[in-house]
Amino acid sequence: MVFLFRFFLLGIFGALWFCRMTKEEFSFLFRAECRQHKIADVELVFLGESKSTLAIAKGHDSCLWIFDGALSLSYQNTIELIRHELAHILDFRDGGWKRKGSRWDIHGANWKKFCAILGCKARTSIPRVG
Ligand SMILES: [Zn+2]
Repeated sequence: MVFLFRFFLLGIFGALWFCRMTKEEFSFLFRAECRQHKIADVELVFLGESKSTLAIAKGHDSCLWIFDGALSLSYQNTIELIRHELAHILDFRDGGWKRKGSRWDIHGANWKKFCAILGCKARTSIPRVG
């Protein structure tokens, strides 16, 4: 119950430092998303600080690298981040990531298809505040 009240607070004050999510709370939301969308065998790895990124999906290892910035998002943006990264995993499991010229086209059409299925915006950057 205290747990759920924290999510209520995070929904309102998510951008503020005193309501930074704990790893346990992030994991709780992640597991709920996996259950809801019937996605099995994806692990979370918490890696500490990164200036440039919030999270990285590792297709081959079926895991998500989560950096500290991801714990300071609002509730809505946390859900979007989780779905964004799960869309990468589903894209990988659905025939592997594609190349576009010399680069990986990780935010391509197939990834966008999975964003639509999971119900998140197909944008490539999630605001850290708000
Ligand atoms: Zn991405």
